[in-house]
Amino acid sequence: MSDFAARLAATVSILEKIATEFSPAVFASSLAAEDMVLTDLILRHKLNIGIFSLETGRLHKETLSMLDRIKETYDYEVELYKPETDAVNSYVQQHGLNAFYDSVEMRKECCRIRKVEPLNRALSGNKAWITGQRRAQSATRAELAVQEDDVAHAMQKFNPLTDWSEDDVWHYIRSNNVPYNALHDKGYPSIGCEPCTRAIQPGEDVRAGRWWWENPESKECGLHVVDGKLVRIKSI
Ligand code: SF4
Repeated sequence: MSDFAARLAATVSILEKIATEFSPAVFASSLAAEDMVLTDLILRHKLNIGIFSLETGRLHKETLSMLDRIKETYDYEVELYKPETDAVNSYVQQHGLNAFYDSVEMRKECCRIRKVEPLNRALSGNKAWITGQRRAQSATRAELAVQEDDVAHAMQKFNPLTDWSEDDVWHYIRSNNVPYNALHDKGYPSIGCEPCTRAIQPGEDVRAGRWWWENPESKECGLHVVDGKLVRIKSI
């Protein structure tokens, strides 16, 4: 934990730079542990960065309850972006409520409707966006950079927790009494939609519980990829 203070200071410095040099900027919060660290830092330091979340319509009740906990703790209302009702109804009528289990294509189409399209709306008009991704979370994030040129959204993308470990995240949360999703205490290190996330066993990869029926190489929701493919985004 000796280098933790330096990593924390670097993260605050990045957030301050985003707030001053890349305004308007927004933080996409999944309401999971990493994102609660960033929420706390943004609100604690009163940074000019908006916080939003994608309310897919399939989230756990524990995840949704974080919205009230953020309001109680910080007197801040996270902005919610929801999928288009017609698109959801059309998908469900044509394919079924849980068709994402049938194929990678069906899963990506559900993610496109419930996450990617609302994300595009949320990002529109901003110069930069922020995520809570860390390199250690999965094979698909091993080369994650702190700042990336997000070509698809024509803006900068920042990952201020890039080099944080899971221990760093929990050290910050416990040291600062940050509210966190109750699912983390039930074996869920990574949290997404309820039907697509399961608890993992000790020793399993932290993202093993996400879309567990698919190959690891397929396990991104389209929010951090371009045209549905994992591509190397140019680092600055
Ligand atoms: S994570 Fe699952 S339920 Fe959520 S949008 Fe993607 S496929 Fe649909």
